[in-house]
Amino acid sequence: MKVINHGTHWDTRAVKRLCLAVAKHELLTPAEIARKRVHLKWRRIAGRGLLGKAWFNSDVITLYLERDTLDPVLYAKVIAHEYAHNQGVNHRRMAESYEWKEGWRETWGWAAIHTVPRKARKDVPILSRSDIVAKKLTHAQGLLENWEKKERAAARHARNWRVRVKYYTRKLEAAMKGETDGN
Ligand SMILES: [Zn+2]
Repeated sequence: MKVINHGTHWDTRAVKRLCLAVAKHELLTPAEIARKRVHLKWRRIAGRGLLGKAWFNSDVITLYLERDTLDPVLYAKVIAHEYAHNQGVNHRRMAESYEWKEGWRETWGWAAIHTVPRKARKDVPILSRSDIVAKKLTHAQGLLENWEKKERAAARHARNWRVRVKYYTRKLEAAMKGETDGN
């Protein structure tokens, strides 16, 4: 199973745990569970519109989430409903447990333990002005060191080739002199 979070602030792993729990509850096979793709998107308008969407005879579902709360009991039912669509079940054939009939909250109440928190905020360390400058200095020192190494290597190469150029210049002069003398 892959849960793809399209920018919602809900914790992806926690949603995945809920989706997995529902998959087990619905007796999906391990192969079916492995193939599942769950997309997490924002519900366009709070309190209105679709909570989920699924393609018939596929492994793909989309959950539409709201910003304020993510009720695992409600979404357990939504997820099961979408899984059923994946298996080719239409609304007419869907068992009552998937519909919003009285008592649905009791039916899916077991999912309440799968609470979904918001994504953990990444702890960005607060750097002081001198920390920032020190970091830039270290970076600059590293680059300077590299270029100085290259500079020394370049000087070494230039020295070697200068020697060669001198050597062949003399050699050519000697050769030309020899040819002149020979005639
Ligand atoms: Zn439906």
